[in-house]
Amino acid sequence: TNQRPTSQVLYETALQHIVGGVNSPSRSYKAVGGGAPVFMKRAEGAHFWDVDNNRYIDYLAAYGPIITGHAHPHITEAIVKAARDGVLYGTPTELEIKLAMMLKEAIPSMDKVRFVNSGTEAVMTTIRVARAYTGRSKIIKFAGCYHGHSDLVLVAAGSGPSTLGIPDSAGIPTTIAHEVITVPFNNLPALKEALERWGHETAAVMVEPIVGNFGMVMPHEGYLEGLCSLAREAGSLVIYDEVISAFRFHYGSAQTFSAFPDHDAIQPDLTALGKIIGGGLPIGAYGGRKEIMEQVAPLGPAYQAGTMAGNPASISAGIACLEVLQESGIYDRMDGLAAKLAHGLQEAADRNGVPLTINRIRGSFSAHFCNHPITNYDEAQDTDGEQFGRFFKLMLDQGINLAPSKYEAWFLTTAHTEQDIQVTIAAAQTAFAQL
Ligand code: PMP
Repeated sequence: TNQRPTSQVLYETALQHIVGGVNSPSRSYKAVGGGAPVFMKRAEGAHFWDVDNNRYIDYLAAYGPIITGHAHPHITEAIVKAARDGVLYGTPTELEIKLAMMLKEAIPSMDKVRFVNSGTEAVMTTIRVARAYTGRSKIIKFAGCYHGHSDLVLVAAGSGPSTLGIPDSAGIPTTIAHEVITVPFNNLPALKEALERWGHETAAVMVEPIVGNFGMVMPHEGYLEGLCSLAREAGSLVIYDEVISAFRFHYGSAQTFSAFPDHDAIQPDLTALGKIIGGGLPIGAYGGRKEIMEQVAPLGPAYQAGTMAGNPASISAGIACLEVLQESGIYDRMDGLAAKLAHGLQEAADRNGVPLTINRIRGSFSAHFCNHPITNYDEAQDTDGEQFGRFFKLMLDQGINLAPSKYEAWFLTTAHTEQDIQVTIAAAQTAFAQL
């Protein structure tokens, strides 16, 4: 068991100066029984070192962007070069064209791209553009999907099917929440019902085509096809939030993933990106069909801007990250390691009578503490959070860093090794035995 006295002291200091001691609520340990989060000071490959010099194997990957492992030499070199050449110009650069072309080639539904600074911004702007294009104001989203912290998408389901949304956060006017309808994922009749009632007012149906926010959840066979055709019948656009899913499972996005047989039938009108495409630096991007994207200023009436947007450091890191991911065999290797780890975790849980449901998609998986399939948010909520909280701390004590959330995925990176996997399975065996 590692000791973390310096993290404890830093947390107490942080609490005096930074709200909640953290700069994103997901970093606090509130959801896993409280206590001081680990303060890290260095990371390399699949490993972290904290301020007490404890080493950790990392499966958080900074909530997804760090798919090539920490401080990957090719990305580091690109960032250093960008820093030497000046980090921000406020003018266009050739680098932006290069990354835009790489994204378009991998995600053909994007005729035109715009870079922003975060996934939140990317999603927020796709909604504005969809509203500008359709002249409608409502959006339909899915329970448990997270699309950043802008007003419109931080809205929960109202009570009962086909009701208007209620704010999921203080500070969001109910008038805004009433522009949002939330329906269950993987349920075409529920979407159909919502569209029958609100379709003529709906600018867009917004979805994580492969869900990453209440576990890793695949759409049922035919679901995305049905979603796209129902939305189009209603004259609504389809927006894919691929902030997590793009470049996660293969070099491309959900809309080009081999798990789906008919790519033509699942193409969105707009796509939001973030995370991996910045190689660990702040980034977001959105793009889509030419005539829709031409709504955006300076061509059209939908305004969106950004002082830091397309900055050379983020763009350089993004290009370098995608270059690493183009190496052959990269995704198969992560897939293989994730399969071994998931299998080992399941065996260890079974041996100790701990209910565990693993949803694995290539190199990522979620591990829910429950014994039924997870296909929507309702099912995910049954996860035993108290048990997960104890598991999380027992793993942390043994040097395994997971996200402090019962829903969050485990992310393999290109830097993890067989040995990391074996050490993690052994730690999980110890942890399950103590639950
Ligand atoms: N969309 C999805 C699917 C996400 O998972 C996230 C962040 N976890 C966001 C949007 C928001 O991205 P950001 O944190 O970069 O604003």
